[in-house]
Amino acid sequence: MIYLGCHLSVAKGYEAMGKTICSFGGNTFAFFTRNPRGGKSKEIDPADAAALAALAAAEGFGPLVAHGSYTMNLCAADPVTRSNGADMLAKDLARMAYFPGSFYNFHPGSHVGQGIGAGIRRIAAALNGALTDAAPTVLLETMAGKGSEVGGAFEELREIIDRTDRRERLGVCFDTCHVWDAGYDIVGDLDGVLTRFDRVIGLDRLRAVHLNDSKNDRGSRKDRHEKLGLGRIGMDALRRIALHPALQGLPFILETPNDDAGYRREIAEVSGWFA
Ligand code: ZN
Ligand code: FE
Ligand code: FE
Repeated sequence: MIYLGCHLSVAKGYEAMGKTICSFGGNTFAFFTRNPRGGKSKEIDPADAAALAALAAAEGFGPLVAHGSYTMNLCAADPVTRSNGADMLAKDLARMAYFPGSFYNFHPGSHVGQGIGAGIRRIAAALNGALTDAAPTVLLETMAGKGSEVGGAFEELREIIDRTDRRERLGVCFDTCHVWDAGYDIVGDLDGVLTRFDRVIGLDRLRAVHLNDSKNDRGSRKDRHEKLGLGRIGMDALRRIALHPALQGLPFILETPNDDAGYRREIAEVSGWFA
């Protein structure tokens, strides 16, 4: 079985996203916890969040996958940017109390010239400052390794986890476009990549998947998502990923460049693989 959905806009509220994903044929979704580029967050209406939780329970949704802001860089060189990031993270994690059982996924950060090691240490320090006993499960996203992004290699994510005190709260979100762009051959050797993931991080940490095709070749480090089947990963490989025994029962989120009709089509296509 699969929990499947796409990234949705929070503009009309939380229950509205639940209704939208039902109408698309999905049973999970992703949403930004705040403006993805501007960093501002709107107050959450508790009644709206409760209505979503009721709908999700009634419809048997899988875990929702909230996404942190792109502007949040926990390992920025500039201390002001870094403390803004830490502040965003703490507030986002507190807001997740409105969405029990959901995951909070974010891009670890870009070290902008400080080096991978310094980036990893800063990210872990920020997590140590923000993770409380009340925190949700927090997912580090596998990254394409674009620019100075941290998280393009599984080892980097592992080191962040190792340096975090409350590591029982940490998991990983496996973004197929990013992993491919980072150089992992999920087309020719999916089993090998997942074995590697298991050895380095542990498959028990793999808690969600971003199912995307890529506009670019393996190892390009570009991070340009493509519609399913129209990119360099291709539909056969995406199908093998969705059906892989090691990934069953996880929420799969489409972050493909689609309008509503396109997402409906992709959800129908992927659901069909499980029929
Ligand atoms: Zn992401
Ligand atoms: Fe992603
Ligand atoms: Fe991406």
